[in-house]
Order: sequence, then C-alpha cells, then structure tokens
Amino acid sequence: MKINSPLQAYEYLPKTNCGECDEPTCMAFASHLIDRARKPKDCPPLLDAEHKEDYNTLIKLLAPEIREVSLGTGEHKVTIGGDDVLYRHKLTFFNKTAFAYDVHDTMDEKELVDRVNNIQNYKKFYIGDFLTLDAIAVRCVSGDAGQFAKTVKTVAETTKLPLLLCSLDAEVLAAGLAVAADRKPLIYAATTDNWREVAELILKYHVPVVLSAPNDPDTLKSLAATFESMGITDLVLDPGTVPTGPGLRDSFENFLKLRRAGIAEQTDIAYPMMAVPMTAWNEMDGVSAAYWESVLASIFTVRYADIMILHSIEPYSLLPELHIRDTVYTDPRKPVMVDAGVFEIGSPGRKSPVFVTTNFALTYYTVESDLASNSIDCYLGVVDTDGIGVEAAVAGGQLDAGKIKGMFDSANFDVREKTDHGTLIIPGLAARLQGDVEDTTGLEVLVGPPDSGQIPRWMETKWS
Ligand code: SF4
Repeated sequence: MKINSPLQAYEYLPKTNCGECDEPTCMAFASHLIDRARKPKDCPPLLDAEHKEDYNTLIKLLAPEIREVSLGTGEHKVTIGGDDVLYRHKLTFFNKTAFAYDVHDTMDEKELVDRVNNIQNYKKFYIGDFLTLDAIAVRCVSGDAGQFAKTVKTVAETTKLPLLLCSLDAEVLAAGLAVAADRKPLIYAATTDNWREVAELILKYHVPVVLSAPNDPDTLKSLAATFESMGITDLVLDPGTVPTGPGLRDSFENFLKLRRAGIAEQTDIAYPMMAVPMTAWNEMDGVSAAYWESVLASIFTVRYADIMILHSIEPYSLLPELHIRDTVYTDPRKPVMVDAGVFEIGSPGRKSPVFVTTNFALTYYTVESDLASNSIDCYLGVVDTDGIGVEAAVAGGQLDAGKIKGMFDSANFDVREKTDHGTLIIPGLAARLQGDVEDTTGLEVLVGPPDSGQIPRWMETKWS
C-alpha cells in the first residue's frame, strides 16, 4: 500500500508539533511529504531510535511507484523515473525526461569536442528559466574497444554532463568503464545475448544499466527479474523505438503497457524507460529525419519515456523537444509565477510610462520582452495574482484596484513622486478596473492594449 494523503503520512510522525522541521505542525510536514517538498529525514525526532520503525515504514510507503535511477555525478547528476501517476493532472510528473545527444567513436577529435561543447553550452531562456540538454551518449561505431575508450576519455575531459556508454559488446563497455566509471555513466545495453557479461560489469562498477528487448516486454520483464535477483536495481527499460509504420504503434503500446503495469504496483517492471528517437535517422536523412525525430521525442515525452537518445542539435529540433518537455513536466498544482513588485525596463525617467501586469510568468515575460525589445524605457508594476493571467485574475478577484495600490505601496513606489505625469497604464483586459483604480489610487489611469505586442503602436497615439 502506498501513502498518498497527508493524513496517512501523519500517522507515522511523532505528532508533537515541535517545529524542529521548520513547519508549524506535524500535519503541515505530512502534506509536504506527499508533495515531495520534504523527506522523512527532515523530521529530526523521527530519526530517534524510538521512531525507527515508523521512519522505515514511511520511507517504504512514500517510495514512488516507478523507481528513481540517477546517472552522472555532482551538480550535473540527472535523476529519472520517480512517477506515481499515469496522468499528470492526478498529481504531477516528477523528474523531467532526460535528453542525451549522441557522439560516436569515429568522429575526429575536433568534430567530437565541438559537438560536445555545442551540446553542453546550449541553452534557451523560457519563462524565467534556461532550457538545457542533459547528457552525452557515446556510441561505439568502430567496434574497437581501444578507440571507444579514447573517445569516452575525450568526452569525459570535455564535459561534466552525465555520459551514456553505448555498445552491445561487453568488452567495449568494459573499456569505456575503465576510463569513466567514476562519472557513473548509464550503460546501454544489456540484451538476451550479452546480459551475463554486462551484469558482471555492473556488479564491478556499480553503475546504472539499460535492459533492451525490442518489442518484447516479456523478455524485458524477465531480464529485469534476473538483474534484480543479482542485486542490480538501477535499471532502465528499453522496449524499442521503431520510428515509423506499425512498428511505431507497437513501440508506443509497449511504453503504455509497461508504465501501466509499473504504476499498478507490478514492482518487477516499475523502472524508468528509455526511448531512442534517433532511430528516425535509420530510415531517412537530413531535415526529414530531424523533423521526425522531434515528433518521436514529443510522443515519447508525453507517454512515458524517462530518458532518450537523440541526434539532431539543430534549433528546429531542440525547440519543440524542449518546449513540450517543459510543458509536460510543469507542476499543474503550482502556477508558474514571478515575484511581485515594480521593475525597471531599460532606463526609465520622470516621463516614462508605468505599466501594470500580473505575476503569471508567461504574461510577465511576454510583456517584459515586448517592452524591452521595442526599447521602451518604463516601469512595470507586477501584481501578485497567485500566478493567474490578467483576464482570469480580474474575473476571479485576484486583480483589483486594492491589489494594484497595495503592490505599489509595498514596493515603496509613489507614482506621483517618481514621474511627472502621475499616470498608470492598466492592461486592456483589465479595462473595467479603470474607474476603481482611479478612485483608489487617486492617479490618472489609461487603458492599454489587450495584447502587449500592440504597446508600441498604442504609445504612438495615446502616450504623448
Ligand atoms: S520535526 Fe517532526 S515531530 Fe516536529 S513538528 Fe516537524 S514533523 Fe512534527
């Protein structure tokens, strides 16, 4: 039985409300155990001998349905798996799908280093955060263990990102591990042909491993059981990724079957899964392959790959892949929001306009970007609407005249003192607040356009 409510978790806590965990009550702590913001070890009394049994039970009952597996070390360590639900709206998805991009051991050194640097340096700003790539998959193409080890060493010296060592030849994998085992790489892959040799390597180096059985979930299950019986539990399952046709349908169904079984407490199959969208390159080339690879990455991000190996690092591939991942793994319980307050865009002066918006991150960054990219020096007042956009916040009462005045007061920003005009510009979608805001603040209030992209044109006619 798995715990999924604060009341159930509370039963195993000391119930003294001592506050040592920095929460006001044990019940508050219990609710954070459920949303995974806190761990049982964060309750010091629970670590005492008298509560040892409760502590151990809590750890067991709070464990996610799908096991978590980590690869890499230090600040770049990536954890995959850890989900409890099939549908994001039932809770949230944890641990974003990790994207690994391939290099291989027949690349010349400059080409290899340049590609690794391009992968590790890629970043795209999106709603207050940078979208980045997670890992490098080093593939053995030469079949030569020495050549592979040399390539792994060069990659390991170039980047701190986690590595995947990819070969079906245990000798090749052993050569790669000999130079990079301390980086805790993910080994790809153990199959029905090589599992004994690969299992020996895993037992020797204590690294995570992918089990591969294309379009054969039963064999995958049996491989997982075999590895688990040997004490190897850092497993990732690869049910195969056929890029097109009926094979793609089968691949998709295998991912669904395995994840359904894992969430339904079939613990022998409850491991993170790997998809390999770069198989698109086996059937097509160039832009078509890059396009189809992105389609596959999107499909398997939604259902239910926890890690992927990809090839194209062109922006037209990366942008859709990263955006859909970010969307799927945004916690639906927490609106994405920014801090409230008054912010300067450019170098505002006494004649600069003062705009108002809400702290919904997407709204804020859109408005901020429209103002900055059009070189409009101004002040932007951001009201805390619990991360709700303008129209819904006006309807729901999170944005009203009192909130707008309160925000300027808290920021110690007196519009009359800071500017010569004493005027506020509220969003067009909040037009019905105009009179109230004028009465409450005593300021002149103009209604801006409904879309911040129209602000430059609006200013030409309305802001002299
Ligand atoms: S430290 Fe433990 S016992 Fe104390 S309030 Fe927090 S949860 Fe309760």
